[in-house]
Amino acid sequence: MQTIYDFTLPEMEEMLAGYGQKSYRAKQLYNWLYRKRVQRFEDMSDLPAALLEKLKERFCIMPVKPLEKQVAKDLTAKYLFELQDGSTIETVLMHFSFGKSVCVTTQVGCSMGCRFCASGLLKKQRDLTAGEIVGQIMYIQQELDAVNERVDNVVVMGTGEPFDNYDNVLDFCAVINSDHGLAIGARHITISTCGVVPGINRFAEGHYQYNLAISLHAPNDALRKELMPIARAYSLDQLMDALKRYSEGNHRRLTFEYILLKNVNDSDAHAMELADLIRGMNAYVNLIPYNEVNENGFHTTDERRSLHFYDVLMKNGVKATLRSRHGDDIDAACGQLRARREGIL
Ligand code: SAH
Repeated sequence: MQTIYDFTLPEMEEMLAGYGQKSYRAKQLYNWLYRKRVQRFEDMSDLPAALLEKLKERFCIMPVKPLEKQVAKDLTAKYLFELQDGSTIETVLMHFSFGKSVCVTTQVGCSMGCRFCASGLLKKQRDLTAGEIVGQIMYIQQELDAVNERVDNVVVMGTGEPFDNYDNVLDFCAVINSDHGLAIGARHITISTCGVVPGINRFAEGHYQYNLAISLHAPNDALRKELMPIARAYSLDQLMDALKRYSEGNHRRLTFEYILLKNVNDSDAHAMELADLIRGMNAYVNLIPYNEVNENGFHTTDERRSLHFYDVLMKNGVKATLRSRHGDDIDAACGQLRARREGIL
């Protein structure tokens, strides 16, 4: 059954118009779903009972069901959810000093095949609908309601490539960003792509206020092609051109994500090459400690080398941050919990 979370506000107005309803009804419905966060159509007391009956026949509200929850010592929580077709997905809640962040999944499995990533162990089976992504946030928000907390930030960095499911991901963002809904500010929503250039171009033309992050992980084409198959479709030149157009055209700062992989991409020479690539752009590099995935041959760069890599970037005119580890005593790497359950890890 389709979830009612699938509808952006304009789509909700259109859908309700099909039942002869005026447009203010969509806002009322949004209010019940996202402000009051009810889970039963019967509870929406200012909407006509006959309409609610019809909606109930066609739609469910919560599209995800929790199967498992792992909580790390630092309270990072990882959820394994089941969708209505029996597929399973992962969602992560992180507690930062600047608020609560949720990392959402956008596809069942992933086809990008990055060699270091556990998500790709299970090939893409399908895209999630907008509402199935919204559901991940709503489930966790309901848990947080019990302790009077809210989801402050959303990162689209779970399993899946958001620009390989462009329309649904952008609809998801519109729903959670809506003033009539959860009202999560656009600047508190970050979309991360492995570098799907047509998606970046489309995103640039949309002039959205959401943050854009790029999974770079290598400073040259040869190494990037080894690590990330997407680099065979779009060269680093093509990628950087698209990003410059986006960043300059939209006056937005970019984030480059760079996982440090021991003896693979973490030498001084790599740092200099990376600095040459990014210097002068309105951007910074987020250095990410690698979460090891069983026996895939990649290892975590130690802290000393990571700090040194950071120093080389800074000394060569590129701003960087060194991300701290979260939840590494649970199956925190993208796709790990799910892969283990399916018997792959
Ligand atoms: N497909 C998108 C979003 C999902 S991946 C993208 O590639 O950006 C989110 C981030 O986690 C990416 O930067 C990805 O490269 C990184 N990642 C994947 N596996 C990881 C691991 N085992 N340890 C640390 N980061 C990982």
